[in-house]
Formats: sequence, structure tokens, C-alpha cells
Amino acid sequence: MARYTGSVCRLCRREGQKLFLKGERCFSAKCAVGARPTPPGQHGQARQRKMSEYGLQLREKQKARRAYGVLESQFHRYYEKATNMKGITGENLLQLLERRLDNVIYRLGLAASRPQARQVVRHGHILVDGKKVDIPSYLVKTGEVITLRARSQEQDHFKILREGSGRIIPKWLTFDAQNLTGTVAALPAREDIDLSIEEHLIVELYSR
Ligand code: SF4
Repeated sequence: MARYTGSVCRLCRREGQKLFLKGERCFSAKCAVGARPTPPGQHGQARQRKMSEYGLQLREKQKARRAYGVLESQFHRYYEKATNMKGITGENLLQLLERRLDNVIYRLGLAASRPQARQVVRHGHILVDGKKVDIPSYLVKTGEVITLRARSQEQDHFKILREGSGRIIPKWLTFDAQNLTGTVAALPAREDIDLSIEEHLIVELYSR
């Protein structure tokens, strides 16, 4: 299945909440969720009817998938992996998504959005424990050190981040702005993940 290339603001409007896919624009008055809070399309307003249980579960899954930029088949693989882990499946699923390298780059403030972070990784700017990793789905582990390649650190786009991106770094990560280096201090716990997702609905959907 091809990656979605349409308007990302449309995805936020469909889910009825901000998924923060466009960087600074998401925090401005131009954000489409604030300006047009109805689902997209000609019949967007008419669609605002009571949703079935299945509908609620499906929307929750789509919201998580779209926020992290993961394709359907990949997302299902994360779910299967989560069911084989110890602990609560829904929380395991969110933890796996949160550990993706593109998400970590976004969380560290090295990119304005997850889609941009994905590009930063793909373009080979990122080193994990000193080795180049250009796979956005790479799952980080406790103790790993994430930094920018020396050549990339001199690019204007990254240089200005030394002054701080203003991003609040979650407590499972640490960030040294001067050296543009992040460390995975621990694996993310549920309370570290600020997305408003009811993960139990996703588990119910896949358990049908
Ligand atoms: Fe979503 Fe950002 Fe577009 Fe707002 S500006 S609708 S948060 S992608």
C-alpha cells in the first residue's frame, strides 16, 4: 500500500483532533482543526452522528496510525509484537510506536513534526551509538545515544537548535542541546506519552 500523500490537515480534521503533522503551523491560528473543526468533505457536517462501537475502535486505531505515520500492515505487526510482550497490550503498542527513531527525533526537537523527522532519518543525518541509522522504524533501546552526523551539525537548519527548540523533552529522554545529542534514559511509560489515544479500543478492534 502506498504512503498517503494528500493533505495531512485533512487527517486531523477526520480524527477531530490535532495530530501535529505540520510543525509550527500546528501551533498557529492557521491550524485547520481550529478553523474548520468538522470532518473533511462535502458531507462532513452530516457525518457527525453517533458512532458505533466498531466505528469508535476504528477511529482510535486510525488516529494512532496517522499520528505516528505508520502503514496499516506495519501497525498490525506492532500490535502482534505488543501481544507477545509482557504487560498490557495497549500500553506495549504505544511504547513500541513511541520508540520509533523518527518519533524520538521529533521528541528531541530535532524536527518540527514526525513526517519531517522521518525525512531527517531517511536522509542519513542520524547516528545511533555512533553508527548511521536511516531506518525511521528503528526501535531505540535504553542507553542508546542519538546524535547528528558531524557534517549535518554544521547545517543552518540544525545549528539553530543549539539555542534550544523550545520542545519539552519527555522524561524518558535526555537532550544535550549544545552537542545536539539525545540519550534514551528509560523506555517510555504510558504517562510519558501525551497523545490522547484510548489504546484499549485498538486492542478491542484487533481482538474481534
Ligand atoms: Fe493537524 Fe497541524 Fe494541520 Fe493543525 S496544522 S490540522 S495540527 S497537521
